[in-house]
Amino acid sequence: LSSNEWKKEPTIVNIGDVNIGSNKIVVAAGPCAVESEEQVETVAKAVKRAGASLLRGGAYKPRTSPYSFQGLGEEGIRILRKVGDEVGMPIVTEIMDTRDSLIFKNYVDMIQIGARNAQNFSLLREVGKLGKPVLLKRGLGNTVEEWLQAAEYILFEGNGNVVLCERGIRTFERSTRFTLDIGGMVAAKLMTHLPICADPSHPAGKRELVHSLALAAVAAGADMLLIEVHPTPEKALSDAEQQLTPESFEILMNRIKSLAKAL
Ligand code: PEP
Ligand code: MN
Repeated sequence: LSSNEWKKEPTIVNIGDVNIGSNKIVVAAGPCAVESEEQVETVAKAVKRAGASLLRGGAYKPRTSPYSFQGLGEEGIRILRKVGDEVGMPIVTEIMDTRDSLIFKNYVDMIQIGARNAQNFSLLREVGKLGKPVLLKRGLGNTVEEWLQAAEYILFEGNGNVVLCERGIRTFERSTRFTLDIGGMVAAKLMTHLPICADPSHPAGKRELVHSLALAAVAAGADMLLIEVHPTPEKALSDAEQQLTPESFEILMNRIKSLAKAL
């Protein structure tokens, strides 16, 4: 179902008036984690002004250590929904547990499956049944084929609104947090009709690298970008090193616009 031999025309995933997979690059931006209403409001206004069309933020956070900040949960979803409505941006946020599916169905515009749940097959099936647009991250140890097979679980439940997200894979290289697999992204584009997103923030791991990785992904044909932006990144409760300031995000958006024009 994900193959472009089965479906020849490219899929466009529509979220309100945002169209992912049309010719215009769609940018989702916001903090790694929702920390407070004020934080989300500040960032949402700034990223919207800079040209982002979707608001991202984690409410349920998949943290490596159980002692790290785990996210605000349901309260985080409430904040995102409120701010999203206020500023007029659809919201993207990660689901970790099938038991939360009703909250996501009722309040979230695009459901993210994180890299760590990329092969959680019961979660993939459940999200397929919800019928909402899905942003499916590639697992950190998954091949392109495994990533497409994960999408297959969602499509099989009758939900065709899937965007694939390359977010870096684990390799021996330690100068970046993960290795953004531009080659894999390009290969996936040749195999599937689904739109492709790139997340330059998580593979970068450091904000100094985010602009270049984002631009590389755009040049390689990404349909969408997912970028972490925080009003005071150094004080962030998660991923403090890689989040952009609103000012830096605005500069990046201008660079993306110029590059997209040249392509
Ligand atoms: C995120 O987008 O905040 C996130 C946790 O991403 P990933 O699942 O790619 O690590
Ligand atoms: Mn993050």
